[in-house]
Amino acid sequence: MSTNDDVNILLVDDRPEGIYTLERVLEDQNYNLIKASSGQEALKHILNYNFALILLDVQMPIMDGFETASLIRERKKSSHVPIIFVTAISKDEQYVGKGYQSGAVDYLFKPINPEVLRSKVSVFVDLYLKNKQVLAQEKLLRDKKLEDQRLKFTQDKYDDLLRYESLANSIPHLLWRMNLEGIPEYFNEKWYSYTGIDFENSKKDFFSVIHEQDIAVVKRKWNAAICDPSIDSFSFECRIKNSKSNEYNWFWNLVVAEKNKDSEKISWVGTSTDINERKDIEKQKASFLSIASHELRTPLTAIKSSMELAEIMLEDEGAKYEDLSEVLGIGRESCDQVNELLDEFLDFSRVESGRLSIRPEKTNLSEIVQRSIECHQPKIKSLGRHKLEANICSDVYGEFDGPRIRQVIDNLINNAIKYTPTKGSIKVSLSKSKDEVILSVRDEGVGIDTPNLEKIFQAFKRVNEHEHISGLGIGLYISSWIVEEHKGKIEVYSSLGKGAEFVVKLPSTIGEVII
Ligand code: ADP
Repeated sequence: MSTNDDVNILLVDDRPEGIYTLERVLEDQNYNLIKASSGQEALKHILNYNFALILLDVQMPIMDGFETASLIRERKKSSHVPIIFVTAISKDEQYVGKGYQSGAVDYLFKPINPEVLRSKVSVFVDLYLKNKQVLAQEKLLRDKKLEDQRLKFTQDKYDDLLRYESLANSIPHLLWRMNLEGIPEYFNEKWYSYTGIDFENSKKDFFSVIHEQDIAVVKRKWNAAICDPSIDSFSFECRIKNSKSNEYNWFWNLVVAEKNKDSEKISWVGTSTDINERKDIEKQKASFLSIASHELRTPLTAIKSSMELAEIMLEDEGAKYEDLSEVLGIGRESCDQVNELLDEFLDFSRVESGRLSIRPEKTNLSEIVQRSIECHQPKIKSLGRHKLEANICSDVYGEFDGPRIRQVIDNLINNAIKYTPTKGSIKVSLSKSKDEVILSVRDEGVGIDTPNLEKIFQAFKRVNEHEHISGLGIGLYISSWIVEEHKGKIEVYSSLGKGAEFVVKLPSTIGEVII
């Protein structure tokens, strides 16, 4: 709050007694009284002070009051300062008018009446202080507005950062940012939870989580990007260690240069996408060809041998007809095996290309299951180590694609036989409830370890320690596709060494079940 201490009043008179009179009247008001004995001196003071009021004697030698007032008005700094003329000269109207023209706002006539002087001065001082207050308030408002804008800008920037961070944490990829020298500046939460290392350690040794065989590739890519200003993005594949499983997963990394508004690079932002599953499938696809060739070679060798034997027998006059027939029978069986394998390949490629379709029609599921069991009996008998028990609810009708469902049942029973390499019983059951029909094939074979239970329905997925058992790893993939096309589901319950149970549930709504 302003007080009179801040109020400068300029007293201008060439006669000391004139100044003295003014001073005496005003001294108890605590004004800051600045004195000038000429117009020139007054103008000098105006350069150094801000005045609330000027009391200006009219009659002065060299430069009189009117001239001084005009020069005061001309100066920008003092153009608005009120001037009260102090004069002993006539109160003549014309004379007073000249004073007003040269910039006076009021007149004081000598001899000075102290009361009048005090009250006139206090009016202008009040005005000055109020004006000052208004200006101060305006400044305060301006400052506050600026501060608000600054705060809003800071808040906006903070909000942007929060948005950036929540975006970075919502994606399923590892995300990181490095400066142009390759020093890490930021990692998202996924990075920390996947790698299990904190910011300081990630920054200190970014390569500690990269597979040692991939470090050279990663460094080569980085150096190329850092040295070549024309590179705005690059990608590479590498293995990154998972802290939970302690295993390295394959990641595809895309690194893009972040630029400022002048298109200058300011950092590199990288995203790492888990491609382990894709890599797995690529690996399995690669081994599929060798497995498939091997699978085909076995029956083809048998066919060739039986044909060679048949040839020898035909040339041998003593050969018996029954023996020849048996040899040809073995050849035919091997041909059937080749056919089955080719059918499986074809089905797989049809599923993959979307060309396999199911044609549901009214079907007796009980008969289909029964027939499949009968067809497997000779094999079970010849192996002599399995006991097959069936519990089939009769006349379970529904709208199913019979041959395709038969394919599923064959695959499950065939697997139960294959993956029960020692003695064990195989139980097949078919039951029905209000909403669904349930087919179960249960064995006492090698079983499947829990982490692989989901995976066995993927193409080419062969698990456990029994890779020597022949198979292509696509039977369950095709079976689950067929069941899903019937709006049903296929489930597996198993643990390693404890056998396995496959349960197929087909809705009775898509296929009406008639008892
Ligand atoms: P494959 O031709 O290899 O048998 P499938 O797709 O039928 O192909 O089965 C996929 C994998 O699932 C098999 O390689 C095997 O590891 C596992 N599997 C399937 N059925 C059984 C079972 N009854 N017992 C144990 N493992 C099984």
